[in-house]
Amino acid sequence: MIEQDKRMKELQDSLGSTNGRWLQLSDMRRIRARLVTTSSECSVCRELIEELDERVDHAADQNGNVTRQERQAYTRMVSRMKHHLQKQHGLISDGYYGSLYMALGVSVGLLIGGMLFESIVFGLPIGIGIGLALGAGMDKRAQRQGKVL
Ligand SMILES: [Zn+2]
Repeated sequence: MIEQDKRMKELQDSLGSTNGRWLQLSDMRRIRARLVTTSSECSVCRELIEELDERVDHAADQNGNVTRQERQAYTRMVSRMKHHLQKQHGLISDGYYGSLYMALGVSVGLLIGGMLFESIVFGLPIGIGIGLALGAGMDKRAQRQGKVL
């Protein structure tokens, strides 16, 4: 497990940001570590790790120069991983609560504006401000709990 992470780090260093950018290796090392922690009880995670390792090894063999189809397949795999970790293992994306509460804040702001100021525009900054503050707090908490992907 640790060996593959070391390999990914080396690949990240050797390919740099030119040939290796599409591999998103710094993100993928973090995501792989997540998958490893849940893989003991989840066969999907085990399969995803296997697929990732194969694709990374292949990319390393080709020095990052793989076909467009292979890149697309890789990108789809990354989405599948994120989706799986979010749906099955309760992880959230970075800034998840921020955008959620921001959207809520807009609705609440329109409501407040309509009720208190008889102008929906005045309520907006209040609603958004509250939404952002709440969302930031929730995001920080999720980060501390290790729930952020
Ligand atoms: Zn899983």
